[in-house]
Amino acid sequence: MGFLVYNTGTMDYQDFFKSALHTLKADGRYRIFTELCRTKGHFPYCTYEGSDPTMPKQFVTWCSNDYMAMGQNETVLRVMAETLQHVGTGAGGTRNIGGTSAYHTALEHQLTLWHKKPSALVFTSGWIANLTILSTLGARLPNCIIYSDSMNHNSMIEGIRRSGCEKRIFKHNDATDLQRLIGQDNPDVPKIIAFESVYSMDGDIAPITDIIAIAKKYNALTFVDEVHAVGMYGDTGAGVCEQLGVSDQVDIIQGTLGKAVGQVGGYMVASAEIVDFVRSFGNGFIFTTSLPPVVVAGATASIKVLMHARQQRTQLHANATALKQAFYRRNIGVLPSKSHIVPVMIGNANRCRDISQTLLRKYSYHAQPINYPTVAKGTERLRFSPSPVHTTDMIHGVADALQHILKNVL
Ligand code: PLP
Repeated sequence: MGFLVYNTGTMDYQDFFKSALHTLKADGRYRIFTELCRTKGHFPYCTYEGSDPTMPKQFVTWCSNDYMAMGQNETVLRVMAETLQHVGTGAGGTRNIGGTSAYHTALEHQLTLWHKKPSALVFTSGWIANLTILSTLGARLPNCIIYSDSMNHNSMIEGIRRSGCEKRIFKHNDATDLQRLIGQDNPDVPKIIAFESVYSMDGDIAPITDIIAIAKKYNALTFVDEVHAVGMYGDTGAGVCEQLGVSDQVDIIQGTLGKAVGQVGGYMVASAEIVDFVRSFGNGFIFTTSLPPVVVAGATASIKVLMHARQQRTQLHANATALKQAFYRRNIGVLPSKSHIVPVMIGNANRCRDISQTLLRKYSYHAQPINYPTVAKGTERLRFSPSPVHTTDMIHGVADALQHILKNVL
């Protein structure tokens, strides 16, 4: 049977895409990527290797999530080079069909040791981990209700949406509001409270012990995203739950391998039953090629290093404090962050972009503008994330540059 070739529809697809992109540009929300090369051994220095003559050839990045500079750790690099030579590149399949190696099993074992939890499961990213865990549990626990902090990350929101279950949004970091909402619901239906430990855009920290107490009172499961905490908080860097001594009281801890661990991938640690349930029913785990062994081996090596990296953790937090103080002293509007994240409020998308561009092109400091929908409109900001290898000179240099731009230029 042949196909008719005349066109009866009126939709102009190209025009639709063009006009949507035009609106984004007019709002100052169009994302412009900064092309950078991180040179091993020189992080946080980056080089620009493109052809734009207005770009500096070398600059300092202030917005990398390689929080602990593990991307250039010599032990990790050696393990990865050896693994690559030993097993080659990709995993070769999904976890169920050819994609589980001894490296995957070893990483999951290491994660259980790190978080002191019975079982662990690795996903292809933190985003996929959140989506898969919440959508699987929310859909399959009969009549489940998910209580979600209003500032939760997009991956959690998407997971809850996909679960199709009922949801309640509680005010950000507000245990009283959570208590109010949960108290109104049927005590017998399954419940999950989903929140983050460190919120990466404001740098504030959840009232974890209060949330645990509410969860116990109302027989709810707790799910905490520690993506911006693992590697940096707690005696062995296992996160804020470790720091507070409550890892055993939270049901599910979710983390990433892509930030402080310096690789890519995501994971969960929980009871053997919860992990086996997500392993068995979670489509985002089952139907995708598993992480390459070289990445997995690198993650295991990195976690082993991080568990003993107490001095680097101390330096990271000292640098964050020094950066906040340098900004305060220059009357730069830092949000009251309780973590290593240092957000500077700008409050306008176009201005935020222009300040970021001037900071980079004129002063060789890189801090990407954070715009809607990552943050609410009118709260656009620059987000600084110091590492243990940022120096005092860099801290004062970026504070002076930002002060100058805010006062005199923009
Ligand atoms: N959870 C939070 C709070 C995040 O900020 C992010 C990413 O930025 C993710 C999850 C996703 O993690 P990943 O980058 O490993 O996909």
